[in-house]
Amino acid sequence: MKLFFKIVDGYLYGIANGGKKLMEDKELAKSREYKNDLNSPKDMENQVITDLRGKDWERDNSLLSSILNNIGGAFILLDQDLNIILANKAFYNNFQLSEKETINKYLDQLGNGQWNIPHLLTQLQISNIEKDPMRDFEITYDMGNSGSQTLCIDAKVINAGKEKCILLEIEDITEKVRADKDLKESIHRFNEFIYSSPSLIAILGGRDLIVQVANESMIETWGKGTGVIGKPLIREVLPEMAEQGMEDIFHEVYDTGLPFHAHEMPLYHSRNGKLELGYFDFIYQPQRNMKGEIDGVAVIATEVTEKAELHQKIKEDERKFRQLADLIPDKISTGTPDGNVTYYNQSWLDYTGLTAEDLLGRWWTTLVHPEDILKVEEYFLDPNEHKSDFDKELRLLNKNGEYRWHLTRAVHIKDNYGNLKFWVGASTEIHKFKEEEKRKEDFLKMVSHELKTPVTSIKGYIQLLMSIVDSGKNLDLNSLPLKSSLKRIDSQISRLTRLISEMLDLTRVEEARLELQKENFYINDLVEECVNDLEYSFTSSKITIVENERFQVYGDRDRLGQVLINSITNAIKYSPDNKNIEVRIYQDKEGMGSVSIKDRGIGIAKKDHKKIFERFYRVSGQMEDTYSGFGIGLFLAKEIIERHNGLIRVNSKIGEGSEFIFSLPVSSGNNVNSH
Ligand code: ADP
Repeated sequence: MKLFFKIVDGYLYGIANGGKKLMEDKELAKSREYKNDLNSPKDMENQVITDLRGKDWERDNSLLSSILNNIGGAFILLDQDLNIILANKAFYNNFQLSEKETINKYLDQLGNGQWNIPHLLTQLQISNIEKDPMRDFEITYDMGNSGSQTLCIDAKVINAGKEKCILLEIEDITEKVRADKDLKESIHRFNEFIYSSPSLIAILGGRDLIVQVANESMIETWGKGTGVIGKPLIREVLPEMAEQGMEDIFHEVYDTGLPFHAHEMPLYHSRNGKLELGYFDFIYQPQRNMKGEIDGVAVIATEVTEKAELHQKIKEDERKFRQLADLIPDKISTGTPDGNVTYYNQSWLDYTGLTAEDLLGRWWTTLVHPEDILKVEEYFLDPNEHKSDFDKELRLLNKNGEYRWHLTRAVHIKDNYGNLKFWVGASTEIHKFKEEEKRKEDFLKMVSHELKTPVTSIKGYIQLLMSIVDSGKNLDLNSLPLKSSLKRIDSQISRLTRLISEMLDLTRVEEARLELQKENFYINDLVEECVNDLEYSFTSSKITIVENERFQVYGDRDRLGQVLINSITNAIKYSPDNKNIEVRIYQDKEGMGSVSIKDRGIGIAKKDHKKIFERFYRVSGQMEDTYSGFGIGLFLAKEIIERHNGLIRVNSKIGEGSEFIFSLPVSSGNNVNSH
């Protein structure tokens, strides 16, 4: 700091000291080459002396004055009584004081007494400041209506000749203090955000990923204590993460500047010495410095282990449900409340021959028979929320374009508030049962018809005979239609007996009470007997045994006779035009003793070849009513043959006649090859 002096009348005075004489030694002062004519105060103002031994008064004076006044900071110079002897322009401007209001005023009297700050004044002791210059002494300065300023004051002692002065350098740090406060506030908020956040937050610096910041939750999750700050994350804190590829991901983010998001990522981390599996949602966000260069990576993560495990469990349950649903032969589906199907099990795919995508892409009622759609719509369009579950018989379209009967049930699953959440539907194929049901109905109709016909016929003959007997005439027995009537009555009674015994057999088979009386006998003899009997009953038919290889079988003679009679009777019955029946007895390639009965009748369509052996099955169509029967004969025949460890099968084509063949094991050692 330079001082400002003037020489007046040969004496040295301090400029801002109200002209106070600073140097008594007139001669010494004079000995300097100072001019002696600086008497007027105006001159004094214009003179600034930097050095008592200064040479160029004029130059130094104006230079220093200009320097001081151009310095931004405010200065004042006080004598030891704290009387202001000098101030610069910045001081006047800042505190809005004139020179007159300032110079020669005591500091505590300045302005409105704003400088009367006891703890400042006590500090401003030359003896104190000499030892320990005052630094960064902060005061709050009242600016009246303009608020207040925070000032930072440095004070030091300077020597001015024999006297000591105090130089105050005053800096307005209001803005700085405010900025500091804002900065502190923002740091506080930042810390508050990071440290109180339940999310796991860390900031890693540089490519080495040095842990710069890590909040409590993060430190807790890492499980390595608080000493991790300042350490490289992957190399030291979590080396197990390197094997899981996490370092590469960090480096990728660091190098490319592209953030990385993960959802429910499984990560093994060693927590308190144990390797634990956790699931995390997280983001790695590149961090840039003020220059925009990447200098770190921020990690914001949430541990979602419980949620992820729950999701896994749900997925696992769903997988199990699907596996289970795929095993079930029933058709299972689920749907939204508005009727959109969201899932079809394997059985649906197999049945329709469609892929899951195809099926999901079409409206499910397109699979329902047009005549059944009303049942579906009536139910689903019914606004009654409390309606019972759906339970209806529907025909559903299969991959061959056929509609087959199903029992379709749909239950609605509701949430805790009773709102419909979704549907679970199950369709069980009941086509066979439906067919069976129909067959039973037809059977009953037929049985009553079949029973009624012979009974009516018998009754007719008896009434005829009784009316003749009752006429009271002397009758010649030979003139009565006795023989023919009795023959008809007998035939009708046989029909009734056959019907009744078939029904009885059926019950026996169903209750597994069909007993077989087995013996060894020549099948040829049995066939011949049956053929003879039938030729006698069906005189218009011609039954020829065209092949007659002799062999014995071990079986129930009567039951096998029943099979033969049923087969030959059918052959006659279903051959309206050509009644030539051929019978063959032979051993087939496998050595089974076989009997074939071949007709030239109406034949049987391929699709019915299996079904005709089912209970009550009769080939439907026009012919159903033409040929009487109950659909039991072949069912019984199959049961009887199979109980003999044999086989029964049919070769037939519509319009070309049929051949029924049954094969039985031949009794060993009893074969006689010719007859
Ligand atoms: P049904 O008493 O009706 O004849 P079956 O069980 O003996 O009962 O035969 C079942 C069905 O098989 C018959 O209704 C008929 O449609 C068919 N069928 C059996 N034998 C022949 C045959 N020889 N020719 C054509 N159809 C036959």
